Amino acid sequence: MTYGMIATWRMAYEGVAKMARELAKGGDAGQSIVEAIKMVEDYPYYKSVGFGGLPNEDCQLELDAAYMDGDNFDVGAVAGIQQTKNPIAVAERLSHERFNSFLVGSGATKYAREQGFEQQEMITDRAKRMWELRLEEIQKNNLSPYDGHDTVGMVSLDRRGKMVVGTSSSGLFMKKSGRVGDSPLSGSGFYVDSEIGGATATGLGEDLMKGCLSYETVALMGQGLSPQKAVDQVVYRFNDKLIKRKGKAGAFSLVCLNNRGQWGIATNVEFSFVAATETEKAEIYLARPGKNQTTEIEVATAEWLKAYDLRIKQPLEKLTR
Ligand code: ASP
Repeated sequence: MTYGMIATWRMAYEGVAKMARELAKGGDAGQSIVEAIKMVEDYPYYKSVGFGGLPNEDCQLELDAAYMDGDNFDVGAVAGIQQTKNPIAVAERLSHERFNSFLVGSGATKYAREQGFEQQEMITDRAKRMWELRLEEIQKNNLSPYDGHDTVGMVSLDRRGKMVVGTSSSGLFMKKSGRVGDSPLSGSGFYVDSEIGGATATGLGEDLMKGCLSYETVALMGQGLSPQKAVDQVVYRFNDKLIKRKGKAGAFSLVCLNNRGQWGIATNVEFSFVAATETEKAEIYLARPGKNQTTEIEVATAEWLKAYDLRIKQPLEKLTR
């Protein structure tokens, strides 16, 4: 059988590249998700996931994560967890619980501590500096504070045909304490069924939750649509529906993979993502909405990658926002 991985944002690249090599050798889909997402959580320059993530309005880091096994539909999730190095590993552990498999706030943090998951201060000097700058900017220009968020979401297929999906996020920058996004919510931020495929989302959680877009994408793949057709239909139709009914739609993007290792992606903004399959080496792509409810996809250029690297590693004293 074949294998594959797809994930949101450029930040997923190192983890996907490494774990796709393991999948090629017969590695497990679940392990590939946990290890690849941990790599994103641990890297301090990826500013919207794990260590060094984007703080809430009180300059606290509250993290959301989820794990779902597409063989048996086990789901584990945490929301608003604090001081915990790897929320994805806690979500994976919770997925084995018959009861209490989705924990929030202090309950999630207590569970992680009691179960021996590594505890650490998750706010970095860089994250604090970004918080201070954002506060100044909001006060000076009377701007909406909620500009800044990105979730790492990954779908994996292993050679035994098992499919797993995982997400991890600090949610909206400057969010209210206790705010939960779509990323830990089954059906909205993620969904997977090994007999069909999996999908995961990133973008404005408040809007993603209105459409249960990950579930919808898997359901359409289940009706026989290709991953690209399924996700195009779900994203662009819902975007149009929101604009029609509410007058606006937040930014959102979805990636999906079926159980034959074929993938798709759709987005209403410019969006980077990573995919690796048996026939395609791990690659960083850029996507944007195309004509007639389709998606334009290209491989990220060397210039784009260089500019990205410079941007995320800007020296602390030179940070402007
Ligand atoms: N969906 C996440 C949330 O709303 C943020 C993001 O993926 O950009 O919490």
